[in-house]
Amino acid sequence: MAERIKAVPLTLTGVQGLERAISSAGGVILDGVDERLMLVARPGVFVAGEMLDWEAPTGGYLLQASFASAIVAAEGVIDWLDSRD
Ligand SMILES: Cc1cc2nc3c(=O)[nH]c(=O)nc-3n(C[C@H](O)[C@H](O)[C@H](O)COP(=O)(O)OP(=O)(O)OC[C@H]3O[C@@H](n4cnc5c(N)ncnc54)[C@H](O)[C@@H]3O)c2cc1C
Repeated sequence: MAERIKAVPLTLTGVQGLERAISSAGGVILDGVDERLMLVARPGVFVAGEMLDWEAPTGGYLLQASFASAIVAAEGVIDWLDSRD
């Protein structure tokens, strides 16, 4: 599916202002993940960074939030794997 999504052709017809150029929200809703950032609907699948739906206006701390949520998810993966032993 990722391959097909990445192959969707886009035809550029013009440009809009900066306020339309950057998406600052969207992604997996926070109610859809547990405290380890594992998908409630898909145990064993973890998400982080911009996969999550958090308000991220540009000029914010996107990299910091992405790194921080990646650590939570990585520790969640270890925790989940340990719990299956
Ligand atoms: C031009 C620009 C400037 C920015 N400047 C700043 C800044 O100064 N400060 C700041 O805090 N934030 C900045 N950001 C935002 C910040 O870079 C992003 O919010 C952050 O990198 C998101 O991290 P992520 O891990 O969620 O996603 P990404 O960094 O997009 O990582 C996703 C990764 O998944 C890989 N991938 C995609 N599809 C697949 C697949 N099918 N299989 C395997 N891998 C795949 C991609 O190659 C990519 O490496 C900037 C963004 C842009 C575009």
